[in-house]
Amino acid sequence: MKTCLVVDDSKVIRKVARHILETLDFDVREAGDGQEALEACSQDSPDVILLDWNMPVMSGMDFLRALRQTEGGGAPKVVFCTTENGLGHIRAAIDAGADEYVMKPFDRETLESKLQIVGMA
Ligand SMILES: [Mg+2]
Repeated sequence: MKTCLVVDDSKVIRKVARHILETLDFDVREAGDGQEALEACSQDSPDVILLDWNMPVMSGMDFLRALRQTEGGGAPKVVFCTTENGLGHIRAAIDAGADEYVMKPFDRETLESKLQIVGMA
């Protein structure tokens, strides 16, 4: 089973993403900020990470930079989640090591197509 770590400070978004991902046969774990996500990745590296940008404690960008510098941290595919307001962030996120991005709010079809692009669905 493929594993996905959903990183978002919104419990509602994590719940929605988890539901969609489970219908796509992913084993899902959740983290509420970048720091929690780093700890989760160091314990057990996921196949793919769905990553929010704005979070307390550690942002998605800081997490991504830190992850990519850890041993084995280049392996997970990272799909960065952005909003209309965050469109300018996409280039920066790709430069920092994100593989794809998805606009929030996303539905099953959109998320599945992004996961296909990174070879995970
Ligand atoms: Mg957020």
